Amino acid sequence: MERKTAEILGYKVDLLSFDEALKTVLDKTEEQNTQTVTINPEMIALGEKNQEFSEILKNADLVIPDGFGIKLALMLYGIKQQQIPGIEFSKKLIAHCAENSLPVALIGAKEETIQKACENLKNEYPNLKICYKKNGYFKEDEERAIIDEMKQSCPKLVLAALGVPKQEIFINKYKNEFQNTMFVGVGGSFDVWAGNVKRAPLIFRKLGCEWLWRLIKEPSRFNRMFPTLPLFVFKVIMNKK
Ligand code: UDP
Repeated sequence: MERKTAEILGYKVDLLSFDEALKTVLDKTEEQNTQTVTINPEMIALGEKNQEFSEILKNADLVIPDGFGIKLALMLYGIKQQQIPGIEFSKKLIAHCAENSLPVALIGAKEETIQKACENLKNEYPNLKICYKKNGYFKEDEERAIIDEMKQSCPKLVLAALGVPKQEIFINKYKNEFQNTMFVGVGGSFDVWAGNVKRAPLIFRKLGCEWLWRLIKEPSRFNRMFPTLPLFVFKVIMNKK
C-alpha cells in the first residue's frame, strides 16, 4: 500500500489514524522487520546535527506523529492529523502480542524500572509472553551478547527505551538480524509503566498538551524544549513561505 505522508523540514511523517498505523505496522511486519519512529520536534532538531540519526528518521518504515509540535506543524500546512502518542501506540502493540501469544522483548531503563514495568504489564495482560528483558545501562562491548540472546528468544516485538537517539541507532544497527519483528523506540515509557512517572491528566492529553503537563511537573525539561519548539515552529512557518 502506498504511504500517505507529509514532509516537515525534510522529514516524512505518516498521515494515518491510530488504527491505520497499527494495521500498517502489523501488515508490513508480515514481510520484513519494521522500525517505527515516534517523531517530535526535538528529534527533527537533533537530525539536523546528527547525520546518522537523520538518515534513520528518513528511512524508518513508519513515522508516527507523536507530540504536539508535529500536530501544530501539520496544522500550519493545513493538514488535520490525529496525534498518536508513542506510549499508547506501543501499549496497543503489546496488547496485540498478548492476545496472539507473540513474544515481546523489552530493553532499556534502570534495572528496577524494567522489572517493575514487566511485572505491571504481566498483571495487565496475563497472557503476555515477555521473552527477553534487559536494563538499558550496558556497555557497547556487551551489545553483541545482548543481541544474540534477544535473537534466540525470537521476539515479535522489541521495545527499546534507551532515550533519543540511542534507541533509534540501536534498533537500526541490529534490526536486520531479526525476522519479521517490530521495533519501536519508546523513550520514557517503561518509567510510566513501572509507575515511576505519571502521565498527564486526561484533559491535558485530550488537548494535546501533555508536554505542558510534563513541563509543569519537571521544570528542568524547559532547557530541552526551549528554544527547540519555538525555533521549530518558526522554521516550519518560514519553510511554508
Ligand atoms: N536510558 C537507558 N540507557 C541510557 C540512557 C537512558 O536505558 O543509556 C533510559 C532512561 O532510564 C529512561 C529512558 O531511557 O527510562 C529515556 O527517557 P526519556 O524520558 O529521557 O526519553 P526521551 O525524552 O528521550 O524520549
